[in-house]
Parts: sequence; structure tokens; C-alpha cells
Amino acid sequence: MHQEKQESQDGRILIYPDYNIRVSSQKNIYGEKFVLRLLKKNAGIKRIFELGFPEDETLVNKCFNKRNSISIIAAPTGEGKTTTLYSIIDFLNSPNINITTIEDPVEIRIPGLNQIEIDAKTSFSGSLRTVLRQDPDIILVGEIRDLETAEIAMQSGQTGHYVLSTIHTIDAIEVITRLRKLGISNYDIASTVASAVSQRLVRKLCPHCKKERNFTDEEKKVIETIGKKYGVDFDTSGKTYDAIGCKECNQIGYYDRIGIFEILSIEDEIKQLIVDDASSIEIRNEALKHSYKPLVIDGIGKVINGTTNLAEINKKLLIY
Ligand SMILES: [Zn+2]
Repeated sequence: MHQEKQESQDGRILIYPDYNIRVSSQKNIYGEKFVLRLLKKNAGIKRIFELGFPEDETLVNKCFNKRNSISIIAAPTGEGKTTTLYSIIDFLNSPNINITTIEDPVEIRIPGLNQIEIDAKTSFSGSLRTVLRQDPDIILVGEIRDLETAEIAMQSGQTGHYVLSTIHTIDAIEVITRLRKLGISNYDIASTVASAVSQRLVRKLCPHCKKERNFTDEEKKVIETIGKKYGVDFDTSGKTYDAIGCKECNQIGYYDRIGIFEILSIEDEIKQLIVDDASSIEIRNEALKHSYKPLVIDGIGKVINGTTNLAEINKKLLIY
């Protein structure tokens, strides 16, 4: 990064053997604000199910194994979208398929993949055009940020490729709204988008010090209300845990993180609603009749099984 420059910059600190630090700076009225993101190097690729993705291989195959389509991972920054993309690529990777990625920057190097890093001279859309001439089977586009990239990604998905990408929205349903706002037609969205996945990262309770107790009446009420709303029966007769803190977890009470997920598979009825320009509320209601379950349902599932607790879910999803 340029030390004397008083303008927004992105950069990396590469001096530590085990970690990369992604640095973003922005000028403000007092000077500069810096945000540092700590990324473990060579963290390896986790299996999709290790990330917390629902243990359902049929569902994963249904959502991600399609030709002629596009799948989108949607979440705010720092919620693990890139890690999920890599795990999906790893799930789909085999020697006889050709996978190309276009990233900004390349965060994990994976053997057997053609990974392209965009820089000041290249853009997602420009790189994607070049990639298409090489006719890969699967294309990972790091992020859909603008209409140009969205349009080429959609065209790629319509011409025999399978495209994976990410977009900044709060949930899977909002992916449709975002693509509409970018300027993609309802027809193109309905015919090309196969699935949208959203996720959040929550902290896992430290297994060494988590303290068992019964759910309180208030917690039971929160869980039952949400369960009733989405037609899911949660059993709150089991135990839940408080975060305590010990030397294993640096006195924090939590150790490591896990993803909570929601998966929207674009079924025919949903395609029809998209073509009819239905609102996201109408699309959500239809999706709920199919396999779609909102983030909070997977989150509460991970509270019931003792992986995390309700306070941690509430920090991400504001459920009470
Ligand atoms: Zn602990």
C-alpha cells in the first residue's frame, strides 16, 4: 500500500508465515480508517458438510450440479461466502472437468484449477469474456458487482456452462431482487438461476467449558414461535449451554465457527413467479412450500444440537 496516499486502498500484509492480512483503508475526517481481515494461509479446503451445510448429498447435488445454470452464494462480507464457494468447487472437482475461477484476489490455490486473479488492468467482466473462449465446464466468478458481470455470467450459464458466484444480499430470496435491480430480466433470472444459498458464521461453543442447563421459558417461547411460523417442530426438552471460558478457548467460551445456511432451489412454481414479476414476499411464501427453510431454522437446529446457543444466533439474526 502507498504510505503517503490519502485515498481508499486495498492491500495485503504477507510477512507472517501462517496468516495473510487483508487490509482496506478509507479516508475519513480524522485521518484514515483501517479494517484488517485475518485469513489463515493454506487452511485447506473443508468438505462442504464440515462448514455446517445440511448433511444431504441429494440436496447438494440438486443445487450445485447443474449444467446451463448459475448458482449464487449470498451473504454480507465476512460471512464465509468464499470458503463455501471453494468447498462447492472441491465437491464438484474431478480430473475430467475443466474449472476456471476469476477472483479478486485468489485466496486459496487449488491444484487442477485455472485460477485467474483480477487486477487494476482486468475486470471480472473482461476476464470472463476471455475465459468463455476457452470453454470451461465450470466457471467461478468471485463476485457479481455490476450489470456487465451479471449479464456475462447469465449468458455463460445459458450456453452450456455452470457458473458459481457470490452477491451481497442478506438472504437467498433477495438474490432475485438484486439481480432485477442490476438490470437482469425476469426471464433470464427464471431460466438461468438454479439455486441461491445464504449463510452466516456463528461461533461454536467451546466443548471444554460449555455449561449445560435447561432452556428458559423465554427461550422456549422464541424457539416455538419461530418453529410454528415456518412449520418446524423443535424439541426444547433437551439441554442448552452457556459460554463460560477456559484456557482452551482463551477465556472466551467459544471456539471456531460454523456456518448456518439457507438454500433456495428455484423450482418451476418459483420460476413462474419470477417471470410474473412477483415480489420477494410472494416468492418467499412459495419457496416455503418447497424445500426452502430460512437461516434461522438452520440456526436453531444448531442450538438444539448444542453446537451454539440462542444468544449467538440472535447476534447475527436478531430474533428476539
Ligand atoms: Zn473453553
